[in-house]
Amino acid sequence: MSKLIIKHSHNTYDCEDCGLSFSDGAVVTLDGETIIDAPACAHCFGNTNIDYVHILVALCKKLDIEIVESGKDIDIAYYGQELETFNKLT
Ligand SMILES: [Zn+2]
Repeated sequence: MSKLIIKHSHNTYDCEDCGLSFSDGAVVTLDGETIIDAPACAHCFGNTNIDYVHILVALCKKLDIEIVESGKDIDIAYYGQELETFNKLT
């Protein structure tokens, strides 16, 4: 059986100009191989925010599974692009 390990992290940053910002990150490994390397990193712009959708996208990409969906305004490709900006691997 394969093993998916998800290590969540949370981080806040308080800027005098922008105020308080929050970040939820994760480092995810599948059978010992890191598929998401995006620990929490809060700052003024572009905070890392990893959700389970990002993990689904990374998992399907790793396993070469194509995702075809319909009926939502924000489709999974959006989360794929977002993941690329968060992920240190890509
Ligand atoms: Zn700021």
